Amino acid sequence: MYKISLITGDGIGPELSESAVSILNRINEKFDLKFEIIKLSAGDKALAETGKALPDETLDAIKQSDACLKAPVGESAADVIVVLRRMLDLYANIRPAKSYPHMPALRDGIDMVIVRENTEDLYTGKEFSLGNSAVALRIISEDASQRIAKYAFETATQRNSMKKVTCVHKSNVMRITDGLFAKACTEVSKNYPNIAFEEMYVDACAMNLIRQPEKFDVIVTTNLFGDILSDESSQVVGGLGMAPAANIGDDFALFEPVHGAAFDIAGKNIANPSSFLLSIKMMLDWLGNKHNDSKCIEVGQKLESTIFDLVKSGVKTKDIGGEMSTSEFTKHITDNI
Ligand code: ATP
Repeated sequence: MYKISLITGDGIGPELSESAVSILNRINEKFDLKFEIIKLSAGDKALAETGKALPDETLDAIKQSDACLKAPVGESAADVIVVLRRMLDLYANIRPAKSYPHMPALRDGIDMVIVRENTEDLYTGKEFSLGNSAVALRIISEDASQRIAKYAFETATQRNSMKKVTCVHKSNVMRITDGLFAKACTEVSKNYPNIAFEEMYVDACAMNLIRQPEKFDVIVTTNLFGDILSDESSQVVGGLGMAPAANIGDDFALFEPVHGAAFDIAGKNIANPSSFLLSIKMMLDWLGNKHNDSKCIEVGQKLESTIFDLVKSGVKTKDIGGEMSTSEFTKHITDNI
């Protein structure tokens, strides 16, 4: 049995969480797997009710679980996810962008993954005022850069793809910080002679994600660049509603959609739950690999192929050109998995 902590979140978070619970319950019924779901509060609502965006009980319950699912939280996201990533040392943020059928996508034939360093860069929140100015510290360390580079090359090794790692940075301007990052990636690349390696400036990468996205396989980059480029890559393949993510450390992992709380569509039963359900697929892969549990991996594949087949047959939510509500789309998945 796997204990899954679930942060139900803000905005569309509770609707996505309801969908996730239905799918996990269906997996419990139908397959030889058991998930116990522990619902937890964190985010804007938790802040208003308890004075803390990440209550201590929530953190304790996450630590006692086998993996965490996190629906999006609102304005207090920095006090929840950024803190969790650092406290649990979830150093690798994995954001796949894959072409699904019949999407309002800019391009087809895309299968890439962005491996984003998750603990450093401008996201450590080390900012202060200095007279009339404001200063943010950008911290890039050799250890963290080498660790994420190694993760990216291991990912490229395991993927059934063109086996290429693109290191994205801006070392022509940020010579010391991004210079260190690029050097660490180059050093690590020497241990992987069968994986092609290239470097690309972040502005060129932003352009190439539109111009020739099918040429990317694994992108490795720093925290802020990875955040921005993964929103872009998800839009290239059909939108944030289809974009899952994983935050992975050596012992624990947390899975969440790429997008935020989307307050503009909250409470309307129109959000696309695929971003969260594909995050469950990533969780099943991770649990399967960690516990040597092939059943988990198999069920994850079934979940992804069920979503793939549904969108192929035109069963889609509004954001990707369909008519289904969140709950109707979820029901189609529970009926078909
Ligand atoms: P954040 O800064 O926290 O990432 P954001 O303000 O950039 O959040 P998001 O919440 O990520 O915005 O979403 C941007 C827009 O994309 C939303 O306003 C919404 O219209 C759309 N969107 C995001 N997620 C979904 C989804 N699951 N289903 C349908 N539309 C979505």
